[in-house]
Amino acid sequence: MNVCNLCPRRCGVDRSRARGACRSDDRMKIGAAVIHRGEEPPLVHGAGSGAVFFAGCPMRCSYCQNRQISQLCRGRTVHPPELAAIMLDFQEAGCSNVNLVSPTHYSPWVLESLGIARDRGLKIPVVVNSGGYESVECLDMWAGQDCIYLVDLKYGDNDTGVRLSGVEGYWDAARKAVRHLYETSGPLVLDGEGSAVRGLLVRHLVLPGMRSNPFAVLEFLADLSREIPVSVMSQYNPAFYTGDLDDMRRTVTPGEYRVVVERALELGFETVFTQSLDAFDTYNPDFASCKPFDDLERVL
Ligand code: SF4
Repeated sequence: MNVCNLCPRRCGVDRSRARGACRSDDRMKIGAAVIHRGEEPPLVHGAGSGAVFFAGCPMRCSYCQNRQISQLCRGRTVHPPELAAIMLDFQEAGCSNVNLVSPTHYSPWVLESLGIARDRGLKIPVVVNSGGYESVECLDMWAGQDCIYLVDLKYGDNDTGVRLSGVEGYWDAARKAVRHLYETSGPLVLDGEGSAVRGLLVRHLVLPGMRSNPFAVLEFLADLSREIPVSVMSQYNPAFYTGDLDDMRRTVTPGEYRVVVERALELGFETVFTQSLDAFDTYNPDFASCKPFDDLERVL
């Protein structure tokens, strides 16, 4: 970690001495660990999904609902044996998976934790829950773990990544990452009860005014494989937006959401997950609270 190049920012920071653009140094930090029931249906069998929210993030999304932890980097330091114990707690509680939310910038420590947990009997699948801004080199560190890759493919062009998330080359990096994950892991695989076991599932959050360029995202995915399940999300909440674009100060209209879902269906995806239009009012975490998502149990 003396020259960190884990994410496509490749800022080369010595994390033993300073924080990178992800605001993280060489201590793994967690904002919350909760049992989450708000993910797509194949991810929430049993008690739900055991979600670990990591502090810090290589992206700077101006509408991030997790800003308290992703950008203000609130949370506490955990060492790999402690994270391994949390993973095992989730298994003990009946969760169908361990869901690692934005783990990229801590990949070496998270993988060490996973190794400890597997040695101690962790059997449930692991979800790598990512914003899509990934380097192939970092994804290769996860190869062999047989993960579920839940990728939020945010934008269908590079300019929007700069404008809304403060990162260069988002679309180039994310396309490369998604293609690599599909080629190495294939589409999402379910067990006999419909619970996710491994493979790729892609999300897309529709933004007001179609700013996310959703058709380009869907067309890219359809070219890759219509077997990849697509989750079209409506939950954009303008309450978290800190930028200066007027149209980002409203929710997505029913018409905007509908045309994106219709395009996904027209393109022939085998599985399309959708959300209700009031979802924006449902997922508003407060990570300062002992229950960040209201009805969800906090483990950490
Ligand atoms: S993970 Fe953090 S420190 Fe490493 S390259 Fe990305 S932003 Fe920089």
